[in-house]
Amino acid sequence: MSREPLGETRMFTRFVEPELAVPEDDQPAATCPYCDRPFRTERLYTLHLGEAHPEACSEDEREAYREVYEEESHDLFTFHAKVVVSLLLLYFGVSYTYALVWHG
Ligand SMILES: [Zn+2]
Repeated sequence: MSREPLGETRMFTRFVEPELAVPEDDQPAATCPYCDRPFRTERLYTLHLGEAHPEACSEDEREAYREVYEEESHDLFTFHAKVVVSLLLLYFGVSYTYALVWHG
């Protein structure tokens, strides 16, 4: 599965200029050297580099981005699977409860 990550997101982030204020007692884990955006974790910084500055990335940074992107995709899939299973359980739980109560 070697899909090129998210061209649409890259296009989207080009138009979004977030206003960021870091509290004085909070130190960012990393700051983007290209746009000065602070990040709470190295993982978020790696994702930002790959999404917002892909042409400026070194090969190591690109490889790190691919790894973090794959982890992120897996985490998102796991989250979606949990949501679907929870909704199914809720649906059948409510249905069976309703059927049992309605039939007495
Ligand atoms: Zn940046």
